[in-house]
Amino acid sequence: MNVFKFGGASVKDAAGVQNLAGIVQDQGKGTVIVVSAMGKMTNALEELVRAYVSQKPAETEEHLLAIRAYHEQIIHELTGNFDRVYQTLDNLSNYLKKAPASTYDEVYDQIVSLGEIMSTQIVAAYLAELGVPTHWADARQLIATDTTFREGQVDWEETNRRISHAVPKNAVTVTQGFIGQTPDGRTTTLGREGSDYTAAIFAYCLNAKSVTIWKDVPGVLNADPKWFDETVLLEKITYQDAIELAYYGATVIHPKTIKPLQNKGIPLYVRSFIKPEAPGTVIGNYEQHLLIPSFIFKINQVLISLHPTDFSFIAEDNLSRIFGRFAQAGVKINLMQNTAISFSVVVDNNPDRVPDLLELLKQDFRVSYNQGLELITIRYYDQSTIDRVLVNKRLLLEQKSRYTVQLVVKDLG
Ligand code: ASP
Ligand code: MG
Repeated sequence: MNVFKFGGASVKDAAGVQNLAGIVQDQGKGTVIVVSAMGKMTNALEELVRAYVSQKPAETEEHLLAIRAYHEQIIHELTGNFDRVYQTLDNLSNYLKKAPASTYDEVYDQIVSLGEIMSTQIVAAYLAELGVPTHWADARQLIATDTTFREGQVDWEETNRRISHAVPKNAVTVTQGFIGQTPDGRTTTLGREGSDYTAAIFAYCLNAKSVTIWKDVPGVLNADPKWFDETVLLEKITYQDAIELAYYGATVIHPKTIKPLQNKGIPLYVRSFIKPEAPGTVIGNYEQHLLIPSFIFKINQVLISLHPTDFSFIAEDNLSRIFGRFAQAGVKINLMQNTAISFSVVVDNNPDRVPDLLELLKQDFRVSYNQGLELITIRYYDQSTIDRVLVNKRLLLEQKSRYTVQLVVKDLG
């Protein structure tokens, strides 16, 4: 059997759902379809959480209405029985009537997860309407995680036990990406863009023949066309290269996706839902690594520099304190570099997390930071590609390993 994953862009409107159905109908029963929240609904739900937790009833209501209207619009353009979607919207509305009763991250997961619940309820109802034997599976009851809200760590053994019984052979299974559940039944999410990872978890547990991620790009490109004019489609990529590219921030695949597939040698296809007949990219066991440079571009970066306030050096004791603070604030490090008396770290400038991190760090260090930066990573670089990307940029920090260079820059244009 095969696992298909459809991201938010592929189901952003009724036409997207119809297109998905077209792709799925050609497949055999037993296929598992993992679907993300529709369009930008995860962002919209995040805004809703922010308004709700800060107890702003008017704003909360406004976000809720927009989310409701968006889903209703899609439903109106499709046929099917969508009662369960209305039920989910009502449940959400009731939940918001009570005051927030747990931590921000826990509330976040209870609310944001509903984006995936609704998208799959719509997709499943529509497929059923078309006469496709459809099984809606609740991923919360299948993906077992710990209680790390917003970044749930998967309990593989338990998840494996559950998933191996959960997929009927005589139907197409439709399930949610991105979500799971703690042992005591509270919903968790697996980290933003985590639906790819869910697809890999299902594939691993079911010993799938392949995973296909359907995207709005022709496959994995050597750079994001949003930032680069001349991009090249990579037809074949090794697991190793794919992990590295994803790790450094190539957003086309979630970084946790590859390892489980590599362990079982399950190929991962990345294909265009706009042009489903095109072959796209396949990631698998190949001898040959990439032959051309690949670029990963991240904006909105902040470079944080730490200096001990006493005369100590940046050595093991200070480093372990620093890493502890980052873990405590839930901030991921994109790049780091140290000298004897300073430690520099580049992170995404996440407004939910970075201000708290800075406060924590200021307890032990003199902290300076530089915002509005870009982080450019080039895998399989050479000097001419470096020179090319540095045109009109000021270089603040550079780090080279054998295959990868990372450049922290300020745009001068
Ligand atoms: N809907 C979630 C997000 O946007 C998960 C995903 O799309 O993979 O982060
Ligand atoms: Mg999404």
